[in-house]
Amino acid sequence: MSFDTLFQAQLDQLKDEGNYRIFAELQRKCGDFPRVQNHGHGQDEVTVWCSNDYLGMGQHPKVVQAMIDTVRTCGTGAGGTRNISGNAYHHKRLEEELADLHGKEAALLFTSGYVSNWAALSTLGSRLPNAVILSDALNHASMIEGIRHARCEKRIWKHNDVEDLDRQLRTLPANATKIVAFESVYSMDGDIAPIREIVEVAEKHGAMTYIDEVHAVGMYGPRGGGVAEREGLMDRITLIEGTLGKAYGVVGGYITGSHALVDFIRSFASGFIFTTALPPAVAAAARVSIKHLKESELERALQRRQVKRLRARLNAEGIPHVDNPSHIIPVMVKDPVKCRMLSDILMDQFGIYVQPINYPTVPKGTERLRFTPGPLHSDDDIEYLVEALKTLWKQCAIAHAVA
Ligand code: PLP
Repeated sequence: MSFDTLFQAQLDQLKDEGNYRIFAELQRKCGDFPRVQNHGHGQDEVTVWCSNDYLGMGQHPKVVQAMIDTVRTCGTGAGGTRNISGNAYHHKRLEEELADLHGKEAALLFTSGYVSNWAALSTLGSRLPNAVILSDALNHASMIEGIRHARCEKRIWKHNDVEDLDRQLRTLPANATKIVAFESVYSMDGDIAPIREIVEVAEKHGAMTYIDEVHAVGMYGPRGGGVAEREGLMDRITLIEGTLGKAYGVVGGYITGSHALVDFIRSFASGFIFTTALPPAVAAAARVSIKHLKESELERALQRRQVKRLRARLNAEGIPHVDNPSHIIPVMVKDPVKCRMLSDILMDQFGIYVQPINYPTVPKGTERLRFTPGPLHSDDDIEYLVEALKTLWKQCAIAHAVA
């Protein structure tokens, strides 16, 4: 028997449901963001509207130069795990930069944000005595995998519902080590957690707090420290996790916290210990990006302007989108097949790239297009996008009711 029939059966099911993922073939062009070369179907050059390189820092001249210079001095790879190859100068400087960003004693780098969540949560949950992880219902897959791997007791609290969290914490025994895990900006709906209330409830019950600021670092707070920085709460959160791959435009993940916490994860997390460290050039580029966004408000200000502008134009044209306080604009389609079709037409006929967001990334029936306007989208880009959506909305007869 061919094993391929087993694989194919499940792939066919995905296709039948309209949830089979097809990736675009796109090549970023340094210095031309948000324009990219399209090697797939559709026009040769397209405008990207769904990048997580939220501020275009992946092509910032200083960041690019730092990576080139460091490749020239250090070569490409790190040469092994930190255990084998040691702490490169660039890893250490970046960790200092990150600890400073979040006002913490220490930081630890990982190869991605996914790995940092997975490694940190699984280590905390499996190693701490009588650990119970209380996880927001909409936490990211990387947090869910980390919690699953911890094999400790877990409780899911209703999304952003502080009363439910309080209720659940109350039922736990006094000897439990309670870990409240949540995100600041939820990337699919673009809503923001009530961080202060969560921290207060956690403190009341003696629970530690674990926040994922992946979609907020670089973007919020006077130095880009995230929503917790903006709200003056960083010192009340036990562990702040983030990525170098979104607003900072590079790749990698990290955690920050006390010396003891970071040393604990460094010493026990298999996802840190047994994998090759980030290339020094990546660390150097990320550090330059972080330093830049600590001092420059320009990118954030321009980005907020374009987010506001796109929202206003969508409202004016009656295109249904989720109203939220963040930089993420989900336009609801609520059907996987239509969602893919709209994405394809935008690409083929209008040179606009926005990928369809379908199950399992979002629940069935809430399929959407997710727009992330940035400082490098012009007013004309916005106008062109809105005109294209208007045309399609008419053609597809999708309800104009606000989602
Ligand atoms: N946490 C959240 C909330 C995310 O949305 C993502 C990725 O999109 C990650 C973690 C993983 O980060 P990275 O892309 O750096 O692996």
